[in-house]
Amino acid sequence: MAKAKLEYIWLDGYKPTQSLRSKTKIENDFSGKLEDCDMWSFDGSSTEQAPGGSSDCLLKPVFICPDPERSKLGTPAYLVMCEVLNSDGTAHESNGRATIEDGDNDFWFGFEQEYFLWNLETNKPLGFPANGYPAPQGPYYCSVGAQNAFGRDIIEEHLEYCLQAGLNVEGINAEVATGQWEFQIFAKGAQEAGDQIWVARYLLERMGEKYGIGINWHCKPLGATDWNGSGMHANFSNTILRTAGNKETFDKICQAFAPVVAEHIAVYGADNHLRLTGKHETQSIDQFSYGVSDRGASIRIPIVAVKRGWKGYLEDRRPNSAADPYKVAARIIKTVKGVKI
Ligand code: ADP
Ligand code: MN
Ligand code: MN
Ligand code: MN
Ligand code: MN
Repeated sequence: MAKAKLEYIWLDGYKPTQSLRSKTKIENDFSGKLEDCDMWSFDGSSTEQAPGGSSDCLLKPVFICPDPERSKLGTPAYLVMCEVLNSDGTAHESNGRATIEDGDNDFWFGFEQEYFLWNLETNKPLGFPANGYPAPQGPYYCSVGAQNAFGRDIIEEHLEYCLQAGLNVEGINAEVATGQWEFQIFAKGAQEAGDQIWVARYLLERMGEKYGIGINWHCKPLGATDWNGSGMHANFSNTILRTAGNKETFDKICQAFAPVVAEHIAVYGADNHLRLTGKHETQSIDQFSYGVSDRGASIRIPIVAVKRGWKGYLEDRRPNSAADPYKVAARIIKTVKGVKI
């Protein structure tokens, strides 16, 4: 009998930031298909998702891809992203994916995931000296060379495994702060985009384990200093935006975000007030603005959309690096769907 290793991955119930959890299920003669992944269960009392007296939560497989690194050991291995359900089969309150209303996959999302590689001994970004600070920001963004780019072997290996797993990574770059990096993932369908971001985060965490490097998802790990924070810009479009052909449609959709700032910020990641200060290419957390090419706005209209005759996508710059892409997408879809064109 041929054995396969299936890593079931889910999000725990911690607040305000959910973390990845996973455990391994061994299958016989596994087809590699999602439909052949069984439901499973776990102890929700150990993940802040259930009381000890009735602790079982269910894992519903929703996305599968190969695990190329683990497969190298010999036995075929897979990554299985799961939704968490209550024992009665209803969606658990921590399950952001189940709140996405995009049944026809009309919404396309491209997330730009920023993060810091973190030295767990000094509790500082990779590339920081043990005492004090490195040279100020400037040379690190898209940098080349050992003075300015830190941890390239890790992020390079992460990229390779993401691609081999079939994740639709569109690019990577070194970011503005020391030890800060970004990857971008695009998918047609909000749930799929969220699935792929979470699996890419999982693979990055495992790279970190291998190299003894932390992955710091906090949006402002260096506090209220002049060092950039980390975002997860959400680029999004639906058929209306992709085919609009006029400025008024873009205006109308952008303006629909103005009255629901609080509702969006509520799911755009913890501690975002530390990051959305109006400095470092951000808008203040309590203000809303939009504009063509404006990286100081809440929502940027990319110049490419204008040049194509007002057809394309929008970039919500407010979601932060620790936000749940499912919840971000669900909220954006809700606001955009409310617009009558
Ligand atoms: P920047 O750093 O200039 O903000 P990036 O190139 O890092 O931009 O990211 C732009 C993202 O926009 C990419 O991930 C891409 O997939 C996404 N994108 C492009 N076109 C669309 C579209 N029509 N709908 C949704 N996302 C899109
Ligand atoms: Mn057990
Ligand atoms: Mn980017
Ligand atoms: Mn960036
Ligand atoms: Mn961006």
